Amino acid sequence: MSKQTPSQPKQHAVFDLVKREEQRQKEMIGLIPSENHSSEAVRSVLSSCLSSKYAEGYPRRRYYEGNQIIDEIEQLAQERLKKLFDVPHVNVQPYSGSPANSAVEFAVLEPGDTLLGLSLSSGGHLTHGHPQVTFSGRFFKSVQYGLDEQARIDYEALRQLALQHRPKLIIAGTTAYPFTLDFAKFAAIADEVGAYLLADISHITGLVVGGEHPSPVPHAHIIMSTTHKTFRGPRGAMLMVTKRGLAKDPDLADKIDKAVFPGLQGGPHNETTAAIAIAAEEASLPAFKQYAQQIRKNALSLAAALQAQNLKLVGDGTDNHLLLLDLTPFGEGFGTQVAFALDVAGIYANRNTIPNEPCSPFYPSGLRIGTPLVTTRGMKEAEMVRIAEWIARVVKHIKHEQLPADRQARQQFLKDFKLRSAQDEVLLAIRQEVKEMASQFPLFAW
Ligand SMILES: *Cc1c(COP(=O)(O)O)cnc(C)c1O
Repeated sequence: MSKQTPSQPKQHAVFDLVKREEQRQKEMIGLIPSENHSSEAVRSVLSSCLSSKYAEGYPRRRYYEGNQIIDEIEQLAQERLKKLFDVPHVNVQPYSGSPANSAVEFAVLEPGDTLLGLSLSSGGHLTHGHPQVTFSGRFFKSVQYGLDEQARIDYEALRQLALQHRPKLIIAGTTAYPFTLDFAKFAAIADEVGAYLLADISHITGLVVGGEHPSPVPHAHIIMSTTHKTFRGPRGAMLMVTKRGLAKDPDLADKIDKAVFPGLQGGPHNETTAAIAIAAEEASLPAFKQYAQQIRKNALSLAAALQAQNLKLVGDGTDNHLLLLDLTPFGEGFGTQVAFALDVAGIYANRNTIPNEPCSPFYPSGLRIGTPLVTTRGMKEAEMVRIAEWIARVVKHIKHEQLPADRQARQQFLKDFKLRSAQDEVLLAIRQEVKEMASQFPLFAW
């Protein structure tokens, strides 16, 4: 074989793109609360030979030969997670969070059964029963709960909905909610109507493990989490059945496993399983506790610094790793312009609806920002203050860039705005300051 074979990595154009993406991540400040950087150990096992192996089934019950070592890896991941969370059953095979939630719904619901989840506009996830566009909303009867006037989950309204609709499944979980979840309250309501309680802790798993958010383990029947958010593992998901879950339904673990495979998936991604095992060990170390504490300290100082710049936060603050900027004082639907302009200025976050969004989900009035990425890079309170100053400068600099009232004109306006801001000298000057600071921090500092 010639030395010029295309299997030499450096010859692939894709590797240049990967390098450029790495450079982007290093030079910019990431504030997307669902993202994280993972350790060298987690990342290296993802590109190992484990991805060459088929292992349909579960340890010692495989449909393919040659799985002796894969079995050991999957059992190690299961055992470490069982110990870390104190749960009797774990499944590490779901490909990601959305398929894992679908598996839970497939396991405990029949088509047409009712589920009760937090609406997307209140900070819930699409897979929690969003009507029409999702599997969960199309195949089941979905009822959605929401927030009270302080932007907190309205547990009394939730209870009334549960009593009225008698759901078979209640989902407690959020993607854009800055406050603590009261799992005991959810459990009391689920018990009252005989529903299964699924805690989807995707965003906050790292906080739960680090003792910075109350655990759902004593309250929920099933727990789902992605493994790539605050948990800081590979892109994937895990499903856990609690003691309480087994007490309610002794077949629950079996139902969950069967729903994942063969119900929805084929062969597990063994390289991901191995990386989850590594992440579980990392999460059991004292440094992980410190990391979880720092995530919250950073979120608190970012919140205070933003408020000091006269920026408004949904619910006036945060208890966890994320905050929602309410940009309505600058005009309805201002989130998109701010997200675009920040990206030019070297800071990436995401536009998001706010509770009772006055504009539209396409042109939302909020910005969702979180501290996991910057905390993993080793940034602390002092850096949060600088980040808040940059955000405030960007917001004030573009405050005249209002979305046209005419709906037809909006898309063109945003297109033009994007082009204009890409050459905006003020934004580009901030980008330089951001780059100088960001470049001093590695992607993974722990
Ligand atoms: C991220 C998230 C999911 C979905 O995870 P994917 O891996 O993106 O499919 C589900 N639920 C919640 C609460 C999430 O935050």
